[in-house]
Amino acid sequence: MNYKKLISAISDELKVLEDKGKVASYIPELKKIDPGKFGLHIATVDNKSYGLGDYNEKFSIQSISKVLALTLAFKIDDNKLWDRVDVEPSGTPFNSMIQLEYEKGIPRNPLINAGALVLCDVLVSHLKNPREEFIEFLRNISGDPNIDYCYKIFESEKQTGFRNAALINLMKSFGNIKNKIETVLDFYYHLCSIEMSCKELSQVFLYLAAKGVHPATKIEVVSPSKSKRINAIMQLCGFYDEAGEFAFTVGLPGKSGVGGGIVAIHPGEFSIAVWSPRLNKKGNSYKGMRILEFLTSKTESSIF
Ligand code: GLU
Repeated sequence: MNYKKLISAISDELKVLEDKGKVASYIPELKKIDPGKFGLHIATVDNKSYGLGDYNEKFSIQSISKVLALTLAFKIDDNKLWDRVDVEPSGTPFNSMIQLEYEKGIPRNPLINAGALVLCDVLVSHLKNPREEFIEFLRNISGDPNIDYCYKIFESEKQTGFRNAALINLMKSFGNIKNKIETVLDFYYHLCSIEMSCKELSQVFLYLAAKGVHPATKIEVVSPSKSKRINAIMQLCGFYDEAGEFAFTVGLPGKSGVGGGIVAIHPGEFSIAVWSPRLNKKGNSYKGMRILEFLTSKTESSIF
Protein backbone atom coordinates (compact mmCIF):
# COMPACT_ATOMS: atom_id res chain seq x y z
CA MET A 1 0.00 0.00 0.00
CA ASN A 2 1.27 3.48 -0.81
CA TYR A 3 0.62 5.12 2.57
CA LYS A 4 1.87 8.57 1.55
CA LYS A 5 -0.63 8.72 -1.32
CA LEU A 6 -3.31 7.44 0.99
CA ILE A 7 -2.67 10.19 3.57
CA SER A 8 -2.87 12.78 0.82
CA ALA A 9 -6.19 11.28 -0.47
CA ILE A 10 -7.59 11.36 3.09
CA SER A 11 -6.52 14.97 3.42
CA ASP A 12 -8.49 15.82 0.24
CA GLU A 13 -11.51 13.84 1.44
CA LEU A 14 -11.50 15.77 4.72
CA LYS A 15 -11.98 19.03 2.82
CA VAL A 16 -15.38 17.86 1.54
CA LEU A 17 -16.52 15.68 4.43
CA GLU A 18 -19.12 17.28 6.67
CA ASP A 19 -18.64 17.04 10.41
CA LYS A 20 -21.82 16.12 12.22
CA GLY A 21 -22.63 15.08 15.76
CA LYS A 22 -21.94 16.31 19.27
CA VAL A 23 -19.02 16.22 21.66
CA ALA A 24 -19.72 13.96 24.68
CA SER A 25 -21.05 16.08 27.51
CA TYR A 26 -22.08 13.65 30.21
CA ILE A 27 -18.51 13.80 31.54
CA PRO A 28 -18.13 17.59 32.11
CA GLU A 29 -14.38 17.68 31.44
CA LEU A 30 -14.85 16.15 27.94
CA LYS A 31 -17.10 19.07 26.90
CA LYS A 32 -14.12 21.41 26.95
CA ILE A 33 -12.46 19.92 23.87
CA ASP A 34 -12.36 21.86 20.59
CA PRO A 35 -14.82 19.91 18.37
CA GLY A 36 -12.85 20.80 15.25
CA LYS A 37 -9.79 18.73 16.21
CA PHE A 38 -8.80 15.96 13.82
CA GLY A 39 -5.85 13.59 13.96
CA LEU A 40 -4.96 10.35 12.21
CA HIS A 41 -1.93 8.12 12.47
CA ILE A 42 -0.99 4.82 10.85
CA ALA A 43 1.73 2.60 12.35
CA THR A 44 2.78 -0.37 10.24
CA VAL A 45 4.12 -3.76 11.33
CA ASP A 46 7.39 -2.90 9.55
CA ASN A 47 7.71 0.14 11.83
CA LYS A 48 6.73 2.89 9.41
CA SER A 49 4.70 5.82 10.60
CA TYR A 50 2.30 8.20 8.78
CA GLY A 51 0.37 11.05 10.40
CA LEU A 52 -2.16 13.71 9.50
CA GLY A 53 -3.54 16.75 11.37
CA ASP A 54 -3.43 16.81 15.17
CA TYR A 55 -1.91 13.35 15.42
CA ASN A 56 0.60 14.35 18.07
CA GLU A 57 -1.96 15.91 20.39
CA LYS A 58 -3.04 13.89 23.42
CA PHE A 59 -6.75 13.29 23.99
CA SER A 60 -8.88 11.20 26.35
CA ILE A 61 -8.87 7.65 24.96
CA GLN A 62 -11.78 6.65 27.24
CA SER A 63 -13.13 3.18 26.39
CA ILE A 64 -10.29 2.36 24.03
CA SER A 65 -8.35 1.49 27.19
CA LYS A 66 -10.81 -1.39 27.77
CA VAL A 67 -8.95 -3.37 25.09
CA LEU A 68 -5.68 -2.85 26.96
CA ALA A 69 -7.30 -3.89 30.25
CA LEU A 70 -8.69 -6.96 28.46
CA THR A 71 -5.21 -7.79 27.19
CA LEU A 72 -3.69 -7.74 30.67
CA ALA A 73 -6.63 -9.50 32.38
CA PHE A 74 -6.72 -12.25 29.70
CA LYS A 75 -2.96 -12.68 30.00
CA ILE A 76 -3.21 -13.06 33.79
CA ASP A 77 -6.51 -14.88 34.25
CA ASP A 78 -6.44 -16.95 31.05
CA ASN A 79 -9.70 -18.66 30.12
CA LYS A 80 -11.07 -18.36 33.67
CA LEU A 81 -12.00 -14.83 32.62
CA TRP A 82 -14.84 -16.18 30.48
CA ASP A 83 -16.67 -17.57 33.52
CA ARG A 84 -17.30 -13.96 34.53
CA VAL A 85 -17.77 -12.11 31.24
CA ASP A 86 -19.18 -13.23 27.90
CA VAL A 87 -17.95 -12.56 24.35
CA GLU A 88 -21.24 -11.69 22.62
CA PRO A 89 -22.21 -8.34 21.05
CA SER A 90 -24.54 -6.47 23.37
CA GLY A 91 -26.74 -4.54 20.94
CA THR A 92 -27.32 -2.05 23.75
CA PRO A 93 -25.58 1.20 24.77
CA PHE A 94 -22.24 0.92 26.57
CA ASN A 95 -23.68 1.81 29.96
CA SER A 96 -26.96 -0.11 29.72
CA MET A 97 -28.21 -2.03 32.74
CA ILE A 98 -31.09 -3.95 31.22
CA GLN A 99 -29.23 -7.06 30.02
CA LEU A 100 -27.16 -7.24 33.17
CA GLU A 101 -30.22 -7.81 35.32
CA TYR A 102 -31.69 -10.66 33.30
CA GLU A 103 -28.29 -12.21 32.56
CA LYS A 104 -27.60 -12.42 36.30
CA GLY A 105 -24.64 -10.05 36.56
CA ILE A 106 -22.57 -11.56 33.71
CA PRO A 107 -21.76 -8.76 31.23
CA ARG A 108 -22.26 -9.48 27.53
CA ASN A 109 -18.65 -8.65 26.68
CA PRO A 110 -15.50 -7.02 28.14
CA LEU A 111 -15.76 -3.84 26.05
CA ILE A 112 -18.96 -2.43 27.53
CA ASN A 113 -18.73 -0.66 30.89
CA ALA A 114 -20.02 -3.61 32.95
CA GLY A 115 -17.51 -5.95 31.29
CA ALA A 116 -14.64 -3.55 31.83
CA LEU A 117 -15.59 -3.23 35.50
CA VAL A 118 -15.17 -7.02 35.77
CA LEU A 119 -11.76 -6.71 34.06
CA CYS A 120 -10.81 -4.07 36.63
CA ASP A 121 -11.93 -6.38 39.44
CA VAL A 122 -9.72 -9.17 38.02
CA LEU A 123 -6.75 -6.80 37.80
CA VAL A 124 -7.32 -5.44 41.31
CA SER A 125 -7.32 -9.05 42.58
CA HIS A 126 -4.02 -9.90 40.87
CA LEU A 127 -1.93 -6.72 40.92
CA LYS A 128 -0.32 -5.21 43.99
CA ASN A 129 -0.52 -1.62 42.71
CA PRO A 130 -3.02 -1.79 39.82
CA ARG A 131 -2.73 1.88 38.81
CA GLU A 132 1.07 1.91 38.62
CA GLU A 133 1.39 -1.57 37.16
CA PHE A 134 -1.20 -0.95 34.47
CA ILE A 135 0.37 2.26 33.19
CA GLU A 136 3.80 0.61 33.33
CA PHE A 137 2.39 -2.26 31.24
CA LEU A 138 1.39 0.24 28.52
CA ARG A 139 4.69 2.11 28.72
CA ASN A 140 6.58 -1.16 28.35
CA ILE A 141 4.54 -2.43 25.40
CA SER A 142 5.13 0.72 23.44
CA GLY A 143 8.51 1.76 24.80
CA ASP A 144 6.88 5.14 25.40
CA PRO A 145 7.35 6.54 28.95
CA ASN A 146 4.99 9.48 28.37
CA ILE A 147 1.69 7.60 28.50
CA ASP A 148 -0.26 8.70 31.59
CA TYR A 149 -3.57 9.26 33.36
CA CYS A 150 -5.27 12.66 33.32
CA TYR A 151 -6.43 13.56 36.81
CA LYS A 152 -8.92 16.23 35.69
CA ILE A 153 -10.78 13.64 33.62
CA PHE A 154 -10.50 11.10 36.43
CA GLU A 155 -12.10 13.52 38.91
CA SER A 156 -14.79 14.55 36.44
CA GLU A 157 -15.79 10.92 35.86
CA LYS A 158 -15.74 10.10 39.53
CA GLN A 159 -18.13 12.98 40.29
CA THR A 160 -20.61 11.92 37.61
CA GLY A 161 -20.24 8.12 37.33
CA PHE A 162 -23.67 7.26 38.72
CA ARG A 163 -24.43 4.61 36.10
CA ASN A 164 -21.07 2.91 36.57
CA ALA A 165 -21.77 2.82 40.30
CA ALA A 166 -25.16 1.26 39.58
CA LEU A 167 -23.62 -1.36 37.23
CA ILE A 168 -20.98 -2.43 39.71
CA ASN A 169 -23.44 -2.62 42.59
CA LEU A 170 -25.75 -4.79 40.51
CA MET A 171 -22.87 -7.14 39.62
CA LYS A 172 -21.73 -7.24 43.25
CA SER A 173 -25.24 -8.35 44.23
CA PHE A 174 -24.83 -11.32 41.84
CA GLY A 175 -21.37 -12.15 43.30
CA ASN A 176 -19.48 -11.12 40.14
CA ILE A 177 -17.32 -8.45 41.84
CA LYS A 178 -14.85 -9.77 44.43
CA ASN A 179 -13.17 -6.58 45.67
CA LYS A 180 -14.43 -3.43 47.34
CA ILE A 181 -16.64 -1.41 45.00
CA GLU A 182 -14.77 1.88 45.66
CA THR A 183 -11.39 0.29 44.84
CA VAL A 184 -12.59 -1.20 41.55
CA LEU A 185 -14.43 1.96 40.49
CA ASP A 186 -11.38 4.08 41.29
CA PHE A 187 -9.24 1.88 39.05
CA TYR A 188 -11.90 1.93 36.29
CA TYR A 189 -11.98 5.75 36.27
CA HIS A 190 -8.21 5.76 36.01
CA LEU A 191 -8.42 3.55 32.92
CA CYS A 192 -10.96 5.87 31.31
CA SER A 193 -8.78 8.89 31.99
CA ILE A 194 -5.70 7.71 30.05
CA GLU A 195 -4.53 10.20 27.46
CA MET A 196 -2.63 9.39 24.27
CA SER A 197 -2.09 10.97 20.90
CA CYS A 198 -3.12 9.16 17.68
CA LYS A 199 0.55 8.39 17.14
CA GLU A 200 0.95 6.84 20.60
CA LEU A 201 -2.33 4.93 20.33
CA SER A 202 -1.58 3.38 16.96
CA GLN A 203 1.87 2.42 18.19
CA VAL A 204 0.65 0.82 21.41
CA PHE A 205 -1.94 -1.24 19.53
CA LEU A 206 0.51 -2.62 16.96
CA TYR A 207 0.87 -5.91 18.87
CA LEU A 208 -2.68 -6.78 17.76
CA ALA A 209 -1.58 -6.40 14.12
CA ALA A 210 1.39 -8.71 14.71
CA LYS A 211 0.01 -11.80 16.46
CA GLY A 212 0.67 -10.42 19.94
CA VAL A 213 4.34 -9.46 19.53
CA HIS A 214 5.01 -5.74 19.41
CA PRO A 215 7.03 -5.11 16.22
CA ALA A 216 8.98 -2.17 17.64
CA THR A 217 9.84 -3.45 21.13
CA LYS A 218 9.69 -7.20 20.22
CA ILE A 219 7.83 -7.81 23.47
CA GLU A 220 5.34 -10.70 23.37
CA VAL A 221 2.41 -8.85 24.86
CA VAL A 222 0.06 -11.85 24.44
CA SER A 223 0.18 -15.20 22.65
CA PRO A 224 -0.94 -15.37 18.98
CA SER A 225 -4.09 -17.19 20.06
CA LYS A 226 -5.02 -14.48 22.59
CA SER A 227 -4.23 -11.74 20.08
CA LYS A 228 -6.60 -13.39 17.58
CA ARG A 229 -9.35 -13.57 20.19
CA ILE A 230 -8.94 -9.95 21.28
CA ASN A 231 -9.29 -8.90 17.63
CA ALA A 232 -12.41 -11.07 17.34
CA ILE A 233 -13.94 -9.38 20.40
CA MET A 234 -13.14 -5.94 18.99
CA GLN A 235 -14.77 -6.90 15.70
CA LEU A 236 -17.97 -8.00 17.41
CA CYS A 237 -18.16 -5.63 20.36
CA GLY A 238 -15.88 -2.62 19.79
CA PHE A 239 -18.46 -0.02 18.73
CA TYR A 240 -21.23 -0.12 21.31
CA ASP A 241 -24.44 -1.03 19.50
CA GLU A 242 -22.96 0.00 16.17
CA ALA A 243 -20.46 -2.88 15.83
CA GLY A 244 -22.43 -4.29 12.88
CA GLU A 245 -22.36 -0.93 11.09
CA PHE A 246 -18.60 -0.62 11.62
CA ALA A 247 -17.99 -4.15 10.28
CA PHE A 248 -20.31 -3.38 7.35
CA THR A 249 -18.82 -0.03 6.36
CA VAL A 250 -15.18 -0.28 7.53
CA GLY A 251 -14.47 -3.98 8.00
CA LEU A 252 -11.64 -3.91 10.53
CA PRO A 253 -11.55 -4.93 14.20
CA GLY A 254 -11.40 -1.83 16.35
CA LYS A 255 -12.55 0.09 19.40
CA SER A 256 -13.94 3.54 19.91
CA GLY A 257 -14.18 5.83 22.92
CA VAL A 258 -16.46 8.75 23.80
CA GLY A 259 -13.46 11.08 23.61
CA GLY A 260 -13.84 10.74 19.81
CA GLY A 261 -10.98 8.30 19.28
CA ILE A 262 -11.10 5.11 17.23
CA VAL A 263 -8.35 2.55 16.88
CA ALA A 264 -8.54 -0.14 14.19
CA ILE A 265 -6.31 -3.03 13.25
CA HIS A 266 -5.47 -4.67 9.96
CA PRO A 267 -3.81 -7.91 11.14
CA GLY A 268 -0.45 -8.38 9.44
CA GLU A 269 -0.41 -4.82 8.11
CA PHE A 270 -1.09 -1.83 10.34
CA SER A 271 -2.77 -0.22 13.28
CA ILE A 272 -4.57 3.11 12.77
CA ALA A 273 -5.86 5.69 15.24
CA VAL A 274 -8.27 8.49 14.31
CA TRP A 275 -9.53 11.28 16.55
CA SER A 276 -12.42 13.64 15.89
CA PRO A 277 -14.50 14.60 18.98
CA ARG A 278 -17.99 14.97 17.47
CA LEU A 279 -19.90 11.75 18.11
CA ASN A 280 -22.82 10.24 16.23
CA LYS A 281 -26.00 9.14 18.03
CA LYS A 282 -24.44 5.79 19.00
CA GLY A 283 -21.42 7.46 20.67
CA ASN A 284 -18.84 6.81 17.93
CA SER A 285 -16.79 9.53 16.24
CA TYR A 286 -18.78 10.64 13.18
CA LYS A 287 -15.82 11.76 11.10
CA GLY A 288 -13.61 8.96 12.42
CA MET A 289 -16.00 6.33 11.08
CA ARG A 290 -16.44 8.08 7.72
CA ILE A 291 -12.69 8.44 7.22
CA LEU A 292 -12.03 4.80 8.07
CA GLU A 293 -14.77 3.80 5.64
CA PHE A 294 -13.08 5.95 2.97
CA LEU A 295 -9.70 4.39 3.78
CA THR A 296 -10.75 0.73 3.57
CA SER A 297 -12.89 1.32 0.47
CA LYS A 298 -10.15 3.19 -1.37
CA THR A 299 -7.41 0.70 -0.54
CA GLU A 300 -9.64 -2.41 -0.46
CA SER A 301 -8.11 -3.13 2.90
CA SER A 302 -11.13 -4.38 4.81
CA ILE A 303 -10.36 -7.81 6.27
CA PHE A 304 -13.37 -9.29 4.47
N1 GLU B 1 -15.62 6.73 30.91
C1 GLU B 1 -16.76 6.39 30.15
C2 GLU B 1 -17.84 5.83 31.03
O1 GLU B 1 -17.55 5.03 31.89
C3 GLU B 1 -16.36 5.42 29.07
C4 GLU B 1 -17.28 5.56 27.96
C5 GLU B 1 -16.74 5.15 26.63
O2 GLU B 1 -15.77 5.70 26.10
O3 GLU B 1 -17.36 4.22 26.10
O4 GLU B 1 -18.98 6.16 30.88
